[in-house]
Amino acid sequence: MTETLPLFLDGKPEPSAAAEFLELKAPATGKLYARVPLCEREEVDRAVRVAQAAFPSWRDTPVLERARVLFRYRQMLEAEADGLARLIVHDHGKVLSDARGEVQRGIEVVEFACGMPTLMQGSTVEDVARGIDCRTIRQPLGVCVGITPFNFPAMVPMWMYPVAVAAGNTFVLKPSERVPRTALRLAELFKEAGLPDGVFNILHGDRRTVDALIEHPGTRAVSFVGSEPVARAVYRKAGEQGKRVQALSGAKNHLVVLPDCDMDKTIDGIMGGGYGSAGERCMAVSVIVAVGEVADPLVQRIRQAAEALQVGEGTQPGSEMGPLITAEHKRRVTGYIGTGEREGAQLTLDGRSHPAAGGPGNFVGPTLFDHVQPDMAIYRDEIFGPVLSVVRVNTLDDAIALVNANTYGNGTAIFTNDGGAARTFQNQVSVGMVGVNVSVPVPLAFFPFSGWKGSFFGDLHVHGRDGVNFYTETKVVTARWFGDGSAAARNMTIRLG
Ligand code: NAD
Repeated sequence: MTETLPLFLDGKPEPSAAAEFLELKAPATGKLYARVPLCEREEVDRAVRVAQAAFPSWRDTPVLERARVLFRYRQMLEAEADGLARLIVHDHGKVLSDARGEVQRGIEVVEFACGMPTLMQGSTVEDVARGIDCRTIRQPLGVCVGITPFNFPAMVPMWMYPVAVAAGNTFVLKPSERVPRTALRLAELFKEAGLPDGVFNILHGDRRTVDALIEHPGTRAVSFVGSEPVARAVYRKAGEQGKRVQALSGAKNHLVVLPDCDMDKTIDGIMGGGYGSAGERCMAVSVIVAVGEVADPLVQRIRQAAEALQVGEGTQPGSEMGPLITAEHKRRVTGYIGTGEREGAQLTLDGRSHPAAGGPGNFVGPTLFDHVQPDMAIYRDEIFGPVLSVVRVNTLDDAIALVNANTYGNGTAIFTNDGGAARTFQNQVSVGMVGVNVSVPVPLAFFPFSGWKGSFFGDLHVHGRDGVNFYTETKVVTARWFGDGSAAARNMTIRLG
């Protein structure tokens, strides 16, 4: 039966009064399973008011008590991890082991947020002038907003709200309208863990919902993750509205291979990084930069390994790669394969002719292009599918120049056994997250997720110290007490003391 999804407001599911609904089909089968409402201004207003009303008492709840809710939430997430992962597999299409990994990465942010009593500490300097002390305190902002993409239904929302909520904010999440069910389950579990009503709320919708959230005078901060044009627009609009904003954007991640690499490990890294989650990751490897004589054997080995990958439904034992999110996205990805051929790149493996691509669901097999040039669309554009491009260069310097000329700067990696070359690469490359013999260098929760250039618009990244700073503002208190007789005489200047 097709369910109509509710909102989650003030601690409970609530039917939406939206005029429009979007139909959701399982990526692996094409079967309709739910309808999601596309909320407009009135429902946005209601959600923000609920979160505003919950803020004063949550802000005044001692940080240790807030952290205890997070500790309980962590336990519940752990207990429910398999159910959450299976929901993700059904709704998104990725394979079960990958979905479990995503849930685990989300739980790690909750674990990080459990440290909020320490993370929120300010600093004090005694005697900044005679008898005067100065200290900083960190305070929550108020109602924070999260807008998230389809590719990580659990992890990306969890980059945001656990940190925001532990810091004393209330939150309105607008998950991707293409995978909204996981967020609803995450909200129910948070409530069961003891979170007061109204602290964490969920709205569904599209661009209109996002615009209304950004424009609402009651929202203080906007965390966005999604494609580059939308990230730019959200960053601009939120800035104009005077909101604090972090907008994580698209990517084109290069993996550089030097001739002295460990070939077997490099191929494993390329398979996971390039074809894992069918290439629908912002940290997916999409360009292989083959340096010098490694190119011919490397292309041959990638092709062999890619041909052997098991493509199938995410819960099927042995599946290594699932379908794309929608039929429309499949058309876009296969369209790029045609574009690459027309542009003159050498199509070494064609995912359009994979047996799974002819059946139901949105499957495309692993695809490999060789002799790709930087002016080709398949090199420039984020395809967000299982399509790898090999660019051949002569030297490490050429590889670094190629990576640095790219407009994106999310992740990159180098595979080599030469420590000096790896050090030069990590030092000179203009990319925010660098892997050395690690193909998908996604930082753990206590580090920031640090995209650069066109992959990030803002100042403070998600999670790690950046995340805490994003969801709090610093107040500086300068204090003097008169009891010790140290008070200075009347002072008509701005000097202290
Ligand atoms: P998307 O930009 O289509 O959607 C992201 C969110 O924005 C959704 O909630 C959607 O409803 C909303 N949205 C869509 N169009 C909008 C508009 N015109 N105005 C306002 N809001 C709008 O992205 P997607 O297809 O869901 O996700 C894939 C993209 O996300 C890829 O580009 C990927 O690289 C990126 N991504 C980046 C990171 C990162 O950390 N940098 C992480 C995950 C995904």
